[in-house]
Amino acid sequence: MSRPMVHGPAGAASASHREASASARLDAWLSDRRQAGALFLDVDGTLLDIAESPTAVCVPRELRAALECLHRRLGGALALVSGRPVDDLDRLFAPLLLPACGGHGAHWRARAGEPLCHETAATLAAPVRERLHALARSHAGILSEDKGSSFALHYRAAPAAGQALASALHALLSGPEGAGLRLLPGKMVFEVIAHDSDKAQAIRRFLELAPFAGRRPLFIGDDLTDEPALAMMPGLNGLALSVGRLLPGASAAFADAAAVRATLVRAAGGTSQ
Ligand SMILES: [Mg+2]
Repeated sequence: MSRPMVHGPAGAASASHREASASARLDAWLSDRRQAGALFLDVDGTLLDIAESPTAVCVPRELRAALECLHRRLGGALALVSGRPVDDLDRLFAPLLLPACGGHGAHWRARAGEPLCHETAATLAAPVRERLHALARSHAGILSEDKGSSFALHYRAAPAAGQALASALHALLSGPEGAGLRLLPGKMVFEVIAHDSDKAQAIRRFLELAPFAGRRPLFIGDDLTDEPALAMMPGLNGLALSVGRLLPGASAAFADAAAVRATLVRAAGGTSQ
């Protein structure tokens, strides 16, 4: 993941100050004994460096240990909030199981070990999936990811195809097959979604469930798909921190996912590498 662009010493100082501020705010929030907090974490680009493909990401051992420790310290009120399916998150963080929401809110569990709840049974219709697979095949380097209730087209390896993909997807979704579907643009990815949920709704739902209910939320995210949840935090007396750049609603930004990991590992009492 690229660092934010800075220009000269003044820009570098500003980026450094911004990152110190984000780390300090997360530290202060985690160590504030007067409040019961609930920590919500996006995964790709926030906890993990973005890789060439979703399957190529790496989960550092010290991050897994820090999340396990903080989950326990927060009385179970730590959840992963991702566009990935929860099964995928479980594989990535194994053997650690955490409360999690996957598919941008399509399914969730409020406690580790509980069965998944599903927002809706909506899945993409077979003809739409065929169109999306064909679209992926029509450009070299496009990686498709069929998640059932959504379908992602990653163009990180073919950035020049982004505009053509966007046009084709807008045409598909504005046609009869696009009824009820949404297009969610992310970092070098377009996702077609067959449900109305987003991460903001997912977090609201968690906050109605034990052990999250009644706690003050903190959400960290890095992408367009995180913006509704970030923007919602101030209204919930919560805190929002973004990664890479200051997104609407966030009070400070980490430079990158490594900075988020380092702060979490330090707060958990471990050593960041
Ligand atoms: Mg992300």
